[in-house]
Amino acid sequence: MRIVILSDIHSNLVALDAVLAGCGEHDAIWCLGDTIGYGPQPNECVERLSGHHVVALSGNHDLACIGRVDLAIFNPVASAANRWNGQQLNAASRQWLDALPSQRVVDERTTLAHGSPIDPVWEYLLTWSQARRSFAAFTGQLCLVGHSHLPLAFTRHPDGTIEQLSPISDGHVITLGDPQQRYIINPGSVGQPRDRDPRAAYAIFDTGRNTISFARQAYDVAATQQQMRAAGLPEILAARLSHGI
Ligand code: ZN
Repeated sequence: MRIVILSDIHSNLVALDAVLAGCGEHDAIWCLGDTIGYGPQPNECVERLSGHHVVALSGNHDLACIGRVDLAIFNPVASAANRWNGQQLNAASRQWLDALPSQRVVDERTTLAHGSPIDPVWEYLLTWSQARRSFAAFTGQLCLVGHSHLPLAFTRHPDGTIEQLSPISDGHVITLGDPQQRYIINPGSVGQPRDRDPRAAYAIFDTGRNTISFARQAYDVAATQQQMRAAGLPEILAARLSHGI
């Protein structure tokens, strides 16, 4: 099976479509949440995903947009964009998002969590010590997370030592060998990358080869920015897409 791992699409349909066109044949999509918020095409992104064989999570922005998390928790710019995203949602999109969990065990090997297996809605899993705590919070070999918009990977060796694998660049391949060798992997963000590379980030899980490969996909950033400006979304959210911040 070839599974596309996506996260933090953030209503950026142009980026999502570029990834789906560029990622090659696949059997399934696993989406780690924050499908909407920030960007200009929330319904279209939900429709695109729900038309695929997808296993999806909800993220903090999704929950804010559908009214299950207080918008006041976010900074004013994110809050304004989330309010706008929520107002655009049709009943089908709202229902689809509302039914998603923020964490799920896909099979005995793999757990998906938006933020972390400790706090799936809110934790930004970025550091070695957070990874150490998170490895104790899921069973199985693999936990896939999003939320930070940064591609990264931690491994827990069979002797218990934990290592951050870096740098994670375009084309980086992790081979999942010994089941006792465990991993926490973040594919990065499709719709709002924050590692100073504006290209959409994602990963491919090839279960036959037993690999997870990180990938980047260039897309028409200006097209998304134009849609955001036309919708009256905050300029800073459009501008940051050019810089991958
Ligand atoms: Zn996000």
